[in-house]
Amino acid sequence: MHVTMIKKELADGSPCKKCIQAEEVLRRRGLWEQIDEVVFAKEADPASLGMQLAARHHVELAPFFLVKEGEREVVYTSVIELMRERLASPMSAPPPAVVNGSAKAQPNGEHPTDAEVVELNQRFAAAEPLAVVDWVLARYGESAAIAFSGAEDVTLIDMAASTGHRFSVFTLDTGRLHAETYRFLDRVRKHYGIEIVTLFPAHVAVESLVRKKGHFSFYEDGHGECCGIRKVEPLQRALSGYRAWLSGQRRDQSPTRTAVELFQLDRAHRGATGPLLKSNPLARTSLGDVWEYLRERQAPTNELHDRGYISIGCEPCTRASRPGEHERASRWWWEESTKRECGLHTHLVPEADYKI
Ligand code: SF4
Repeated sequence: MHVTMIKKELADGSPCKKCIQAEEVLRRRGLWEQIDEVVFAKEADPASLGMQLAARHHVELAPFFLVKEGEREVVYTSVIELMRERLASPMSAPPPAVVNGSAKAQPNGEHPTDAEVVELNQRFAAAEPLAVVDWVLARYGESAAIAFSGAEDVTLIDMAASTGHRFSVFTLDTGRLHAETYRFLDRVRKHYGIEIVTLFPAHVAVESLVRKKGHFSFYEDGHGECCGIRKVEPLQRALSGYRAWLSGQRRDQSPTRTAVELFQLDRAHRGATGPLLKSNPLARTSLGDVWEYLRERQAPTNELHDRGYISIGCEPCTRASRPGEHERASRWWWEESTKRECGLHTHLVPEADYKI
């Protein structure tokens, strides 16, 4: 087998960022030695070998990999798939996710202090999201969990898988999600070969709510009660087994998220040993950045996005976005914009309640 990596050189002579990232991933996992040859696709030179290979194999993405076995040539546009399918190493498979949210031994997940959080925000002020994800997972391993529901979270999972560190993923199944969302969750699970721990609401609370108020009480008295039962309580249960969590929040996502930091000490939830370190690696990115990343990585996405949905939650509380509308306007649209949060990212537990 002969593996060629085709890197892009931009028209101004600068290297392609994604190509550098892919090489870093391979080096981190000890797989770089298995790349036999590197050739360049120079945008300014259509006759360069890399450009010829891209044209011959109808590839428009960079980097890509050409695996030759005898006369057979196979193209990979995803370094993750290449590692998973062709490169021999115990680290070539994506790290398995932790089961049941139980905190296992992890690299050195010391409890974070306020001072450390301030220092982290300064240190990573200009860093790429991948560097933030890498730092969290290097420190916490599978005691850090990605809270997964939407496009931003796939970005985090993709980055996490590329770091080579162990990590956990959980999702909250409210029982009111679109069928498309369930298919999306399954595609993500298979694409990355990960386990996604799924938390359901406490059935007694759901049964009581529905018995008293029916299935759509949130249209009449607000979404707080239903979200509290179907999202907030299961989130607390999920987080109780971890020391850190990663969320896909962006500052420009909502008027309620403009102050989101890269790192926060989460006093809203009790983690395995007290407050959790909460990291929002995408805080400074935009919706466009997220989609550019997902397209470049050919990552799985929710098919509802093709039908005009931007921010996707439960079926009765989400509608397709209208032209020019802010992405968050399609969630709980009958309520004020400052109330369009489900309670997952607010502070609920008084600091004094912690027993660290
Ligand atoms: S988003 Fe709607 S259906 Fe889902 S938990 Fe909240 S109120 Fe209930």
